[in-house]
Amino acid sequence: MKRITTISVLLAAMMSMSSCSFFGQQKNKATEPYAFGDETSEPAKETPKKTPRPVVKQADVSGFPTYQGKGKKISSVPVSGKYVALTFDDGPHPSYTPKILDILKKYNAKATFFVLGSRVKSHPSIVARTVAEGSEVGVHTWNHPSLVKCSYPTVRKEMEDTINAIKAASNYTPRTMRPPYGAINANLVNFFAQEYQMSTIMWSIDTNDWRKPGVQAVINEAVNKARPGSIILIHDIHGSSYQAVEGIVSGLINRGFKLVTVSQLMAMQAAAPAAPAAPVDSEETQGAGMSQISPEPEPAPAATDASSSLIPALPAADTPFISPFGEQ
Ligand code: ZN
Repeated sequence: MKRITTISVLLAAMMSMSSCSFFGQQKNKATEPYAFGDETSEPAKETPKKTPRPVVKQADVSGFPTYQGKGKKISSVPVSGKYVALTFDDGPHPSYTPKILDILKKYNAKATFFVLGSRVKSHPSIVARTVAEGSEVGVHTWNHPSLVKCSYPTVRKEMEDTINAIKAASNYTPRTMRPPYGAINANLVNFFAQEYQMSTIMWSIDTNDWRKPGVQAVINEAVNKARPGSIILIHDIHGSSYQAVEGIVSGLINRGFKLVTVSQLMAMQAAAPAAPAAPVDSEETQGAGMSQISPEPEPAPAATDASSSLIPALPAADTPFISPFGEQ
């Protein structure tokens, strides 16, 4: 009996070591929950902390080189036109994600999906479809750990396995990443920029959909708080979140917004660096510098015809490369 207990403790310790704190990294108010797995469950509670042996602790925090530079960490983009980026985390989900893609198609809207490599491996065709339909796929790691607690080799593996899975599924090389729980530091941002030419994408509007506040509450949060350049966070693995998507998309369009990918939003800023950060209501303020990616004057909302493009014609995969380095 004692032996079994000892083995159990050892196993538990090993699991907590290898996970580099998958659970319990939710102290930062700005972070998202552990939100994948059983979608009917509540966000994971903190697991009891096990004190790792010193050698393990050292291995977890050592070996991460210091990356210099000014990698981009982006929560919103200062664009003058009424563009927003809707972003979905933790998928792909075998039923909700395709239904969300159907809604995006219906409204000729684009979005960005920060996917888990482990789920990409299970549902590669959904990722292929996402890219083919002009939405963007970004990295959300393989296993959803808190990267700030992971060793250098683990972070590399989380990133590269996921990048490779996305490439294998869709032939698309992701350009953006979102850290699980929003747990990030400057060194990681620089690391992603230098090693993978990726910008780190946070958000400016958190729908808190995982708390299941009600479909209408999720819709209101996204639609009413949207400003030019907003990046909206929601998850594509919850039924209640999926139910809010059509209301969000149609509500944003009815407010005059166009839904573009994160990379398209960043490309607008790159094309018009002098764009004022202050929100404006008029589309007329778009400068000539936007001409590369600026769409036609906006047609009626809720267009179902793909030819009446509400958004830049470029598919996400063809968006100009945006440097992952910035001024910040
Ligand atoms: Zn997540």
